[in-house]
Amino acid sequence: MNRTHVVSELKGIVGESYVSDDPVDLLGYTRDFGGEPAHWAEIVVGPSSTEEISEVMKLANRERVRVTVRGGGSSTSGGCLATLGGIILETLRMNKITEIDEDCMTVSVEAGVTFGKLESELAKKGWMIGVVPEGGLPGTVAANISIPGMGFFSSAYGCQGDQVVGLKVVLPSGEVLHTGSQGYPNAKKQFWRYVFGPDLSGLFIGSEGTLGIIAEATLKIYRRPAVMGFEKLSFDDLDNAARASHEITQKKLAIYNLITHESFYRAVDPYAKALPKATIDVFIAGTNSEVEERRKSVHEIAEKHRGILLGGEDSRKYWENHFIQAGATYKNGVGPMVTYMIPYSRFQEFTDVMWKVMQRHKIKKCWIGAFDMGNCLEHYNAAFYHEYDQEEYKKVRDAAGEMMETALKMGGTPYRIGLQWAPYVARVLKDTEFFKTTKSLKRLFDPNNILNNGVLGI
Ligand SMILES: Cc1cc2nc3c(=O)[nH]c(=O)nc-3n(C[C@H](O)[C@H](O)[C@H](O)COP(=O)(O)OP(=O)(O)OC[C@H]3O[C@@H](n4cnc5c(N)ncnc54)[C@H](O)[C@@H]3O)c2cc1C
Repeated sequence: MNRTHVVSELKGIVGESYVSDDPVDLLGYTRDFGGEPAHWAEIVVGPSSTEEISEVMKLANRERVRVTVRGGGSSTSGGCLATLGGIILETLRMNKITEIDEDCMTVSVEAGVTFGKLESELAKKGWMIGVVPEGGLPGTVAANISIPGMGFFSSAYGCQGDQVVGLKVVLPSGEVLHTGSQGYPNAKKQFWRYVFGPDLSGLFIGSEGTLGIIAEATLKIYRRPAVMGFEKLSFDDLDNAARASHEITQKKLAIYNLITHESFYRAVDPYAKALPKATIDVFIAGTNSEVEERRKSVHEIAEKHRGILLGGEDSRKYWENHFIQAGATYKNGVGPMVTYMIPYSRFQEFTDVMWKVMQRHKIKKCWIGAFDMGNCLEHYNAAFYHEYDQEEYKKVRDAAGEMMETALKMGGTPYRIGLQWAPYVARVLKDTEFFKTTKSLKRLFDPNNILNNGVLGI
């Protein structure tokens, strides 16, 4: 790449102040919140509109320059890192909520709107989105769709992809594609996703920016519940905890269940004597009477599965601090999150295996848990290290590698792949039609292979 020429062209597109190739600026883009080593981009550019993204992509194609899309850089799997150099395209200037449509119950946002901003703006009008990730202060909506993420309310509403009504996407060629009802100009706005044949939105959900850049997204919105109720349950048996969560979700009693393994409590207090094998934080929503009814049913389910009621105070605090609670754990350092989907019935099996791996590697700070996704569990294994402790870093990386290998062998399915899972996924999927089709789509959408290289293992 002729860097001077590309920098000058980019300045012509987005303005002098929003392009840099200064190493001091680039340093801030070398990492995310996970355990991937630093990767250096050569240029960072901050477009302010779909048209500017489109012009950047046309230039990148002409000059055959790699582009990596980045929102808030808060993911933990390395997808926003410039593995092969080139340009980082940061979306944070595109931070407008373009419409709250109460008629169609949707909200449309530009790519760089964070969940923190979206949540507070919707709350002012009595609305909420269906999936609120805990990393929501720095995390952007478009990135979370591309992963696709999960979060508070996932037990009721699924993942972020399930919330999408339509997208505006800049393809690697620079062309702009509308998916959903807005794909038809006369429809004028986004109100329905499944129009005129195949679900084109689906191509950009989970493809982690490899097929196009989401410039604008329309999501479903819901009335905020009048009341939230909270319960914390404790179990001496992991299977019972998973069964209880399953039953609570199946009966639609809660909008979010968070299962926490004893390893978390052990990490908080290594000297504690009697610890539960697992707890469930249960988040209930509804009117006053609905919450009370549901609370009673949750108590009955807890009793049936030999759970103990711990009251709701802890869970209430968790909810009230939902954007900072998880972030606070990063005082333990950074590190990979090994997360994948499993059936409820395999919670104990996966937890036992992964806990043994972490113990064998003697990881100092690590824990396991699961988010109830409404029809299965997202099983997560978190391990932390401080940058100055290279010995611990090596242990954490080795353990994470073993856990990814093991999870895949056991039939767990990772969803946010990034750089972290890419080599493992490529190895196990290589002969499947699924993988071949994904690679064909990549060639079709991005023939010069310039966008988000290295993620997904393709
Ligand atoms: C403390 C903490 C808690 C977290 N909790 C959750 C949680 O509960 N649920 C959850 O899902 N995640 C969680 N995360 C991860 C992360 O915060 C979210 O997934 C967030 O939405 C990512 O947004 P981002 O803008 O930071 O993405 P980035 O890290 O910038 O990018 C993530 C991926 O999205 C791609 N991408 C970015 N923008 C676009 C775009 N416009 N079009 C196409 N692709 C794009 C990038 O290339 C990259 O592959 C957490 C992270 C932290 C640090």
